[in-house]
Amino acid sequence: MNLIFEESHAGHRCTKLPAVNLPVYAFAPELRREKDAKLPEVSECELVRHYTELSEQTYGVDKGFYPLGSCTMKYNPKVNEEAAALKGFTDIHPLQDAATVQGSLKLMHTLSHDLSEITGMDEMGLQPSAGAHGEFTGLCLIKAYHEYRHDTKRTKIIVPDSAHGTNPASAHMNGFEVISISSKNGLVDLDELDKVLDDTVAGLMLTNPNTLGLYDTGILEITKRVHAAGGLCYYDGANLNAIMGISRPGDMGFDCVHLNLHKTFSTPHGGGGPGAGAIGCKKNLAPFMPHPMVKEENGVYAFYTPEHSIGKVRAFSGSFLVLVRALTYITVLGAEGLKKTSENAVLNANYLMHQLKDVYTPAYDRICMHEFVLSLQNLKDTAGVSAMGIAKRMIDYQMHPPTMYFPMIVHEALMFEPTETESVYTLDKASEALHEIYDEAVNHDIDFDHAPFTTEYSRPDEVQAARHPILNYYAEETAHSDQ
Ligand SMILES: *Cc1c(COP(=O)(O)O)cnc(C)c1O
Repeated sequence: MNLIFEESHAGHRCTKLPAVNLPVYAFAPELRREKDAKLPEVSECELVRHYTELSEQTYGVDKGFYPLGSCTMKYNPKVNEEAAALKGFTDIHPLQDAATVQGSLKLMHTLSHDLSEITGMDEMGLQPSAGAHGEFTGLCLIKAYHEYRHDTKRTKIIVPDSAHGTNPASAHMNGFEVISISSKNGLVDLDELDKVLDDTVAGLMLTNPNTLGLYDTGILEITKRVHAAGGLCYYDGANLNAIMGISRPGDMGFDCVHLNLHKTFSTPHGGGGPGAGAIGCKKNLAPFMPHPMVKEENGVYAFYTPEHSIGKVRAFSGSFLVLVRALTYITVLGAEGLKKTSENAVLNANYLMHQLKDVYTPAYDRICMHEFVLSLQNLKDTAGVSAMGIAKRMIDYQMHPPTMYFPMIVHEALMFEPTETESVYTLDKASEALHEIYDEAVNHDIDFDHAPFTTEYSRPDEVQAARHPILNYYAEETAHSDQ
């Protein structure tokens, strides 16, 4: 489809300003444009059609099945949006006096309390912008803790090889050395852990259930051994969707967690919109939390700075409207509802894995949590069709592809997370489509390397698109002159 600039026709307009009887203001010459701005000229109808068509080319969870593993692309209830659009929340300023925004502070205080309860933590800060930012912040806390105790030889962070890429990246950005340990049957290998535990270890980062969708049954032993060696345990909470109301990172022995509020607590994400990575900790790390935190005394809410705060990790109080959505979601569901959410997320993942098992090979053929990983190595060897080919072909069947080639320890990996919001009817349809695709791969002559065939673009160069995005439009005559 065309860009709005390419739809431009001289003289077309959407608006008609009323005539005014005011003197023309004379801008100083250096403030004036030399040439007219090249703005698109379109009628209202052309404008509406352009953006409607654009929106129809966008695939989202409101449009269809979106089993992108590790991302928790669940349906986001619209009541969250209504709450986040309330004027009392949108028309305030972060520099307003706390006395004039008591309701908003109460919301943050209540959310912190609820999230602490859900995770088994003592404190919860709401400032970080995303999961990765929460990781970075949590590692700042761990670093500050060791430094405060003058235990400065602790320079290493242990990360299992199944970890999300942001884990080693966050550790590295905090100046830690990353020690990767290999997994055994998809879980932490205690012998490998013992080999690297010593007094230079600052901590361990782990997600449980892990990125293979497996719950690490050795978790208490893992955190105990890390603590015995003087290290702290960081919980990547991106997979919290599997365990709400059932098990808590605090009870597993973790000192610090982040939550991806945009995943588990349902804010639309995936288009790079604002997220929030709440950061929770036990008492030992609380004095180091970023400021401001919110406290309540005699019914009055106020910001405060923890005693040895690491400082701020972003401006003001975080993505406030994401916090509104998260508290709305929690309040609507309640404790029982959150537990049901996790139970259904796990049930749906197991159901779909079971439906697919006859033709696609699970990487770990056992009960999974909220997501599961298939390994398509066999299909690649026998039919010459890769995980990428299958994933791209799914688009022709009106499904978003699952996560591909992650975790990296599984060959030809496809990682599905159906989420709790899909009905059994949708899961059956997805399973049927995936069986048809399998049949195409094995029995028909379809060029999987060039799928999908039904979209405006088939295979954009994803690396180029990420590394060298072209985000500006230059009219013909000035093409690239001022890039
Ligand atoms: C999504 C995810 C992250 C990173 O979270 P963002 O909010 O995208 O920064 C970290 N770990 C895991 C396991 C994830 O799935």
